[in-house]
Amino acid sequence: MIVEGAVVDVDGARPAYVRFRKGKVVEVGTPGTDSRRGTERRIRGIVTPRPANSHTHLGDAAAAREPPLAPVSEIVGPQGLKFRLLAMLSPEEKERAMRSALERMVQEGVGAVVDFREEGVPGAELLRRAANGLPIEVRILGRPIRRPVEIGELTRLLRVTDGVGISSAREEDADTRAVLAERAHRAGKWFALHASEEVREKPDTYLRPRPDLLVHLTKATQDDLETVAQARIPVAVCVRSNALFQRSPDLSLFAEAGVRLLIGSDNAMLNAPSVFRETEFAYLSGRLLGHPVDPEYLARAAYVEPWLWLDEPGRARVAPGMAGSPLVLRLPPEDPAYQLVTRATEQLIVPTGAE
Ligand SMILES: [Zn+2]
Repeated sequence: MIVEGAVVDVDGARPAYVRFRKGKVVEVGTPGTDSRRGTERRIRGIVTPRPANSHTHLGDAAAAREPPLAPVSEIVGPQGLKFRLLAMLSPEEKERAMRSALERMVQEGVGAVVDFREEGVPGAELLRRAANGLPIEVRILGRPIRRPVEIGELTRLLRVTDGVGISSAREEDADTRAVLAERAHRAGKWFALHASEEVREKPDTYLRPRPDLLVHLTKATQDDLETVAQARIPVAVCVRSNALFQRSPDLSLFAEAGVRLLIGSDNAMLNAPSVFRETEFAYLSGRLLGHPVDPEYLARAAYVEPWLWLDEPGRARVAPGMAGSPLVLRLPPEDPAYQLVTRATEQLIVPTGAE
């Protein structure tokens, strides 16, 4: 099969054809120059690395509800609605809900998800079980329950996770953050946290100890964004989740500062874990609010930057021998980043034979 149209990958968006054999990329070039002129099935479309959902809380998928009009802390905070609903559910119900959320992402072509998993070691193990056998990379950032941190619990947690993901510097004191980051890094794993979501925090509070990933920065100033960009720490934004609480990060400022952007769908309780919907909303809300953001920046955040962050650069470039399989979408190839960001749906995914 030959897909003629455009490629959007780590090298940007450009007109191209891509030839597949048994689901693998075997040729990429300028449209009209392929080796099989006219002898192979040919479709028009866009080829891209698989998207990644870079921030989720899949654990609350079983509590999916219309969120009441209330502050974020009353919905997903420690004493909030989310934890009251979750307390009434069995581990089996949570596992089933997490598995359906993962299956939905697989249907939308998502190649990897980075989940902030609450509920300590058992919570992380539950997500591992829920993901068993599914064709999606599940990276778990867990959270030990006991405070002060108990090293035994943290060691067990780091054994079953890819690192630690905590609420925020406002909710975890400096000693806790220091020990979590130190132990995670010593184990070769990640340390991540939410930052400047409800109120602005000073970069010093969330950049020390050095995190591997930040989430939100909704209230960050332009100076804060530049500091984060210079530190080369990627930021996962969740614009639909922010919108539920009347917040709207200006992603054109993130782009201007040169922030390494990632895209996440946040709490599965609030929004379906769809990267397609997330990028569309990010683009449209930017236009609506008068701070338009370049669709290439958003496409990169969903389809390219995660693979660089996950240290799998071979999945970020559509080329012969590419690691994993790319995504093919039956979309018009004109302005391909715009098409990807605003029009992609699972119904437009073309099977390549790798699925
Ligand atoms: Zn979050």
